Amino acid sequence: SLSNVKGEIEFRNVSFSYEEDSKTIRNVSFIASKGEMIALVGPTGAGKSTIINLLSRFYDAQSGSIWIDGHEIKTVTRESLRKSMAFVLQDSYLFEGTIRENIRFGRLAASDDEVIEAAKTANAHSFIMKLPNQYDTVLKQDGGGISQGQKQLLSIARAVLANPVILILDEATSSIDTVTELRIQEALGRLMKGRTSFVVAHRLNTIRRADQILVLSEGEILERGTHDEL
Ligand code: ATP
Ligand code: MG
Repeated sequence: SLSNVKGEIEFRNVSFSYEEDSKTIRNVSFIASKGEMIALVGPTGAGKSTIINLLSRFYDAQSGSIWIDGHEIKTVTRESLRKSMAFVLQDSYLFEGTIRENIRFGRLAASDDEVIEAAKTANAHSFIMKLPNQYDTVLKQDGGGISQGQKQLLSIARAVLANPVILILDEATSSIDTVTELRIQEALGRLMKGRTSFVVAHRLNTIRRADQILVLSEGEILERGTHDEL
C-alpha cells in the first residue's frame, strides 16, 4: 500500500482496449509532476475518460506501465490508490440524505465545522444557507432539488473535505449560469492548488491554466504543451 503519496504520475507507452479487436488507447506516455495540472482534451471517444479509468485502476492497461511515485500501480491496491484520489465528475454521486451527509460522504470523523469550512472553500456555503434547512436539507436521490451547478459545488466541497493528493475532474459540459460558473471556476482553482490534477477539460478558462495540455485523438496524444505553446 502507499504512504505519504506525493502524486507524481507517469504513463509509459500505455495501450489499452476494452474489446479485443480495437485499441482505445495507443502508446500514451506522459509525466505529471507533483502539483501539476494536466488537461485532457479532444473529441468525444478520443480516450479522455479511459485515461482516468486506467489511472484509478478501474481497468488495467494491457501493455506499457503506469507509475505513482515510482511504484507501478498494478502493485498498489485499488483501495490505497483511491485513498489518494478524489473525483469531481460530471455526474457526481449524490445520494438521498442531508447536504451535510453528502459533503461528508464516508468521512465520518469530519466535524460539522470542517464540513462548513469545506463548503466555504467550495463556494457552496452561500447557496446552502439559503435552503430551507441549510446543512440539514435533505436531497432527493441523485441530488434532486438543486441545480446542476449547485451539485458541482457540492461535489467540490466533498473533494475539499477529502483533501486528496490527486484530483480527478471531469468538467461539466452542461450549460451553467454565468455566476455559478464563475463560482465553480474559482472553487476549482482553490481545490487544485498544490494537488496533481487531471482534468477532462471543456472550458477554455480551465485549459488556459493547465501546466500541460494533452490533445487526444483516437486514443493517441496528437499534441502536447501549454496553452501558449499550442
Ligand atoms: P467523451 O468526450 O465523449 O467523454 P472520451 O474521450 O472520454 O469521450 P472514452 O470514454 O475514453 O472517450 O472512450 C474511448 C473509446 O472507448 C470510445 O470509442 C468508446 O466508445 C470506447 N469505450 C468507452 N468505455 C467503454 C467500455 N466500458 N466498454 C467498451 N468500450 C468503451
Ligand atoms: Mg469521457
